[in-house]
Amino acid sequence: MAINTTAYTGLIEELRHSGAVLVAVSKTKPVADIRALYDLGQRDFGENYVQELVEKQEQLPPDIRWHFIGHLQSNKVKYIAPFVHLVHGVDSYKLLQEINKQAAKCNRVIGCLLQVHIAKEETKFGLDESEVVALMQLLEANPLPHVAVKGLMGMATNTEDEEIIRGEFRSLKMLFEYCRVNTPAATRFSIISMGMSSDYPIAIEEGSTMVRIGSLLFGSRS
Ligand SMILES: *Cc1c(COP(=O)(O)O)cnc(C)c1O
Repeated sequence: MAINTTAYTGLIEELRHSGAVLVAVSKTKPVADIRALYDLGQRDFGENYVQELVEKQEQLPPDIRWHFIGHLQSNKVKYIAPFVHLVHGVDSYKLLQEINKQAAKCNRVIGCLLQVHIAKEETKFGLDESEVVALMQLLEANPLPHVAVKGLMGMATNTEDEEIIRGEFRSLKMLFEYCRVNTPAATRFSIISMGMSSDYPIAIEEGSTMVRIGSLLFGSRS
């Protein structure tokens, strides 16, 4: 077992002031490590791969809130729809339609966040600002009753340059506020998911309400 208890308690204390929710990112880590953090009181956990998430969910307590933070393929939605708490990486109306369909079968409403491409890097996927606005307008005209789009998610550029990171988080926060005011389907937006082990203090300063932290708690991934 390799969880960093000191880092966890420190982080909880640090986040208490901002009110931001901690999602402990447990991808690639064993069930025993998740259990250890659960025993310290942690309930929100994030995973990137559908199969890994399903296997872990079956072995762990039912009151865990599971966050899917990876790139979700439409054909895999059905496996996580019965239990997933929040899907962070939504990047199309088509994917929302599939989540809506599978959620309806389970008689659930599934919370979703739209992933916004805020980084300069080509590799990080997501919507640009105009696509987010267009998607919220599409949702208003064509509501999906089993989906609740609750806000935005973004990943900053992987760089040492704090001003670049800060600028990217700030642009996500501005887009969040813009949507709340200008697109009726976003009036109940409440979540900005931004900040990871390396950049969460900046994300908090820029208005994050949810941080996704892995290596700081579970150690680095091989
Ligand atoms: C892996 C991952 C994280 C956590 O990264 P750390 O640097 O280990 O804190 C956060 N968000 C997403 C989308 C991830 O894939």
